[in-house]
Amino acid sequence: MTFRIACGKCGAYIYAGIELRYARDVLKVAGGKCRECGSHLSLKDFALDVVKVRV
Ligand SMILES: [Zn+2]
Repeated sequence: MTFRIACGKCGAYIYAGIELRYARDVLKVAGGKCRECGSHLSLKDFALDVVKVRV
């Protein structure tokens, strides 16, 4: 299973990995801004996309 957090505006992944992270923690690390489009991020802008992978 991969856990990804994407920018709600440009769709760039703020975080992608197998480790489950809280959106607010990722947002803190990212400085509250999207690295791609530079827009200010708030929690409600995040889209959670959890994809199950067959093992
Ligand atoms: Zn963005």
